[in-house]
Amino acid sequence: MTHLIPTDATNPGPALITARGLDKHHGLTHALRGVDVTIRQGEIVTVMGPSGSGKSTLLHCLAGVTTPDSGEVTIDGTQISALKEDQRSRFRLTRLGFVFQFGQLLPELSAEDNVALPLMLAGTRRAKALVQAHSWLERLGLEGMERRLPSELSGGQAQRVALARGLVNAPAVLFADEPTGALDSLTAERVMETLTDVVRSTGTTLVIVTHDARVASYSDREIFIRDGQVTNPALQGAQ
Ligand code: ADP
Repeated sequence: MTHLIPTDATNPGPALITARGLDKHHGLTHALRGVDVTIRQGEIVTVMGPSGSGKSTLLHCLAGVTTPDSGEVTIDGTQISALKEDQRSRFRLTRLGFVFQFGQLLPELSAEDNVALPLMLAGTRRAKALVQAHSWLERLGLEGMERRLPSELSGGQAQRVALARGLVNAPAVLFADEPTGALDSLTAERVMETLTDVVRSTGTTLVIVTHDARVASYSDREIFIRDGQVTNPALQGAQ
């Protein structure tokens, strides 16, 4: 599919992610209250707000990790909120990428096997998956580190491995939850530069949850959330 990459809110590209009327409770906590979000192909968007405002819950609903109590999420024409659990998990594995605060690399697997894992889980043979893993590790400046265990990598290197793992399946959307939260500020800047360079060059849509304004400064647009509601709806984009 060919998409234009939007440059700003006045030059809208096609919507890639559309969420309408998202409501979600965690027990008695009303975590999302009628959230509408539109994210366009190729955009880098940060979701910002204070701790407990619903950022992670929104990310999990957008990424099909959890289903909203009500409302709909559509990604690239697929209404993921209506998929069955196994279909959603297949969609996540093949169409979406994830990066978390602490990388969450599997400690007993080498860097190359950590990166190859999403491909192998989706059915690619290990030898072929490793070729793609090596190419991503090289692209992210980690040549020569393929066989290292996560414990043998610095925090910044480990987070680059996590980026490679998030990108290896050429996802339509990369979701990142506080991707630099565990890094010192200089390393965080370098990881954000690498992350934004690589998603811009591949045209990957990037959705980042953060409470850090420095991280948000790398994005095209911010969605502010407070008490489970988007507080800047005027910037939510075209339908
Ligand atoms: P943020 O990412 O902005 O810190 P969250 O989306 O994690 O916010 O949480 C929103 C609200 O929902 C908070 O009040 C939080 O305590 C609550 N919450 C989140 N996850 C759970 C859960 N699994 N069980 C109970 N409450 C939860």
